[in-house]
Amino acid sequence: MSKLEFVENFFFPLIVGVLLLFSLLTVIFRKRCANKKIQKNYPPFKMCLRDTGLSLLAPLFFFPSALLCYYLSKHNYGFSYHAIAQYGSGYFIVSLFLITLVHDTYYYWMHRLLHTPWLFKKIHAVHHRSRNPTVLTFFAMHPLESALMAFSIPLCVVIFPVCDLAFNVAYAMYMAQAIYAHSGFEYFKTHTTSRYFTTSHSHNLHHQAVRCNYSYFYNIWDRCCGTLVSQVPSREEAKLGRVN
Ligand SMILES: [Zn+2]
Ligand SMILES: [Zn+2]
Repeated sequence: MSKLEFVENFFFPLIVGVLLLFSLLTVIFRKRCANKKIQKNYPPFKMCLRDTGLSLLAPLFFFPSALLCYYLSKHNYGFSYHAIAQYGSGYFIVSLFLITLVHDTYYYWMHRLLHTPWLFKKIHAVHHRSRNPTVLTFFAMHPLESALMAFSIPLCVVIFPVCDLAFNVAYAMYMAQAIYAHSGFEYFKTHTTSRYFTTSHSHNLHHQAVRCNYSYFYNIWDRCCGTLVSQVPSREEAKLGRVN
C-alpha cells in the first residue's frame, strides 16, 4: 500500500476516532474538565442513548453524497482529479479552504430553511431535542437532514478542481467540526476564534436559543445576516426580532 493510499484509507477513521476518544475522555474525566463544560448539568441518560443511536445511523445516509463523489471522480466529471501533483500541494490546501467556504454557504441557508416552521417540525426538531448537546449528539438528526448535509462536496467538483484525497479530508473536517461543536465542552474559545469561527460555545447557544448561530465552520453568514449571538438572548430580545 502506497503512502497516499494509506492516508486515503485511514485518514478519515483516524481523525474521527481520535476526536471521539478525546471527547469521551472529557466525559469520563468530567470532574477535572468541569471548568470547560458549557452548560454545567448533563442531559438525562435516556436522551444520550437516543442521540447515540441516531448518530450511529447517520453515516448510512451520507452514502448518496459519498457515492456521487465517487461517481464524479471515476468518470472524470466536473473538475475532479486524482493526483495532488496535478495542481500542487499549495492548491490542495487552498481547495480544502474553498470546500469549507462552499459548505458554510450551503449549510447556513439549508439550516435557515430547516428552521422554517413546517420543516422544523417535520425534520430539524429531531436534532433540536437536545438542548444540552453532548459528543453523542453530533449526528443525531432526521435521516433526510443527514442525507442533505454533505451534498456541498459534490457541488464543489462542478465549481473548482477537487482532488480525490480532498473528498476524504473534507468529510473528516465535517465530522471533526460536528464532534467539537456538540461536545458540550469549550477548549478553543478565544477572542480570535469566536470572531471568525463557529465554536462549541456558539453552537451550544444554537441548541439553547434555537434561532441564532446557524453557521458550520465560520460565522461569516451569521454576521452578515445578523443571526450571531454570544449569549442566550432574553425573551424580550427574541420577541423584538433582534435574533431572526
Ligand atoms: Zn438548528
Ligand atoms: Zn447541533
